[in-house]
Amino acid sequence: MSARSRLTDVQVAAVARYHFGLSPTVPELPQSGDWEDAQGVLVGRPGERGPTVVEIPRWQSPGTVAQRLAERGWAVPTAWVGRPPTDVAELPAQVLALLPVAGAPADTATISTTAAAWARVRATGRAVEIVPVPVTAAQPEVGWAELAEAYGATLLGSRVDPEPARTGGGVLFFTGLSGAGKSTIAARVVELLLEAGRSVTLLDGDEVRHHLSAGLGFSQADRDTNVRRIGWVAAQIAKHGGIAVCAPIAPYAAVRADVRHEVEAQAGRGGFVLVHVATPLAECEARDRKGLYAKARAGEIPAFTGISDPYEAPTDAEVTIDTTGKDVDACARLVLDAVLAGPLQAPAPSP
Ligand code: ADP
Repeated sequence: MSARSRLTDVQVAAVARYHFGLSPTVPELPQSGDWEDAQGVLVGRPGERGPTVVEIPRWQSPGTVAQRLAERGWAVPTAWVGRPPTDVAELPAQVLALLPVAGAPADTATISTTAAAWARVRATGRAVEIVPVPVTAAQPEVGWAELAEAYGATLLGSRVDPEPARTGGGVLFFTGLSGAGKSTIAARVVELLLEAGRSVTLLDGDEVRHHLSAGLGFSQADRDTNVRRIGWVAAQIAKHGGIAVCAPIAPYAAVRADVRHEVEAQAGRGGFVLVHVATPLAECEARDRKGLYAKARAGEIPAFTGISDPYEAPTDAEVTIDTTGKDVDACARLVLDAVLAGPLQAPAPSP
């Protein structure tokens, strides 16, 4: 068996576009070995004149869709691209709903909220066929009319939002040195959000390490795994409209950036709020609430953040707080004021 290169979902979608005749552009792909998708399904292999495709998992070809609709007696179907129109009276009795979803994880909020909106159209008595298509909403390579035509339909209209839909949920992600005040402020913020009637889940750094990340240590790889796990759980909460408050140290910028990206894909832009609890090392060490700094200085704890392991201070924090000389309540209010009026405002119900 020859070696396989793994393609990203974005690359698989590009192969699908090319293979389905939706785009003339030959995708740029690894030139060695066969290609598999993220689930390990064999997609194809490089050929002398463009890719040789074996299977395009999860995407239905335009021909298959057109044939299915013809068999159902839909003469020349009418297609609508993206979210349904605000006024569904514009829609005919039968609609082919084409959802451009390439490049987004299969379960992002945009896709599920759009599919739910089409399900509500079905409830008005119309026949709706929902077909996800391997085209990106932000930078479509094909015009919507050509896209509809490829699926044997004529275009009635489109309503495409290049941004992921906001769910009203979000993630408040605290980062900072040990003893900076992350847990203390996060706990107070959670209380205040609960008082405001929001659904909140606290993923505290120390608690996560006892449960979700039990067994992980403090090597860079283990720290990264810990933060990624917290980020994944938080993104799921935000996707369903909840607020996750996380308080790990999260010393590395690259992993924080990955978590931001994952959360925004699930909950929409603005759904991730980074709070840097920027209490200086000297103050954290003077507090030394858990006696950890003394041990780290004595060499009893290897790779201790701020002493013998780096802390990459964020340059992209939405909120930065130095807790020195402030009380906890004031700090918690600073965080809430920054987010409640903006990113984590409850969303208006979508039509
Ligand atoms: P971390 O979660 O960042 O490791 P903790 O919240 O566990 O930090 O500990 C922070 C310590 O600093 C607590 O003992 C807390 O009482 C104290 N502290 C003093 N002032 C503040 C403040 N303004 N905000 C948060 N904590 C503060």
